[in-house]
Amino acid sequence: MSYQIIDGKAVSGQIKEECRIKAEEYRKKGTEITLAVVQVGNDPASDVYVRNKKRACEECGIRSLSYELPEETGEEQLLELIGKLNADKTVNGILVQLPLPDQIDEKKVIQAIDTKKDVDGFHPVNAGALCTGEKGFVPCTPAGIIQLLKRSSVEIAGKECVVIGRSNIVGKPTALLLLAENGTVTVCHSKTADLKEVARRADILVAAVGKPKFITADYVKEGAVVIDVGIHRNENGKLCGDVDFDSVAPKCSAITPVPGGVGPMTIAMLMSNCIGSVDVE
Ligand code: NAD
Repeated sequence: MSYQIIDGKAVSGQIKEECRIKAEEYRKKGTEITLAVVQVGNDPASDVYVRNKKRACEECGIRSLSYELPEETGEEQLLELIGKLNADKTVNGILVQLPLPDQIDEKKVIQAIDTKKDVDGFHPVNAGALCTGEKGFVPCTPAGIIQLLKRSSVEIAGKECVVIGRSNIVGKPTALLLLAENGTVTVCHSKTADLKEVARRADILVAAVGKPKFITADYVKEGAVVIDVGIHRNENGKLCGDVDFDSVAPKCSAITPVPGGVGPMTIAMLMSNCIGSVDVE
């Protein structure tokens, strides 16, 4: 079967360009959109993510403020900074790069962020809004998955959607968004009895398992659309996803590659959330 490669790089480029135009419009009206990026410690993976986020801000004409705190920073100190950023009217979005060092309670920090500046969409108020269909910030990776599907003209309404993974950051919000788009949604996880059987029902299969090349051809129905959220680096430093691309792709109608699929969408949707944060009253 010939399959379409869903090009996350191209789609994320379009979204960032739309953000750049909107940021420029705001600037002309006197508002400089500003994202505060807070990092505690020097986790190498976080360093890369933070650098990429700042670079995307530059591309989109969004001002980024950088707060790099030492590894031994205490919870109170971080909460104090969040309080200051919440009160600062020139700051539209606050992003605290996760994971945080062990001495800091991540939940407490997320809950301290003003819900109107919570551009990661991790605050329980925004998670609740997603659940009940109210306006709020949507986590970036799930929002990116929906944009990829829509902008690749993949119909979601009425389709069997299977999400493998139930994390608060990816699996659960993705399932809720697919449901909001009128998909018929099943969420699978590590205790799912017959994963292959369930996955094979999917017209749209989202793999957010966190295991390299876990999804092989026998998990996939002929003609399915497969979205691979996983990011892994093998022993040679090469990136791969949760999906075994070479065996799965020939069975699909469309599939996201790794790299160049969901990954670039996450940052594009962060930019989009920053723009959206200006309108939140
Ligand atoms: P996680 O570890 O929090 O969740 C993994 C989920 O997979 C769990 O809910 C678990 O129940 C399920 N699972 C694990 N083993 C399973 C099995 N054998 N059968 C069925 N389900 C199983 O991971 P996460 O934060 O949701 O991330 C998932 C993947 O996506 C990771 O590879 C991560 O690196 C990647 N990720 C990518 C982006 C991006 O921007 N592209 C963003 C976030 C996460």
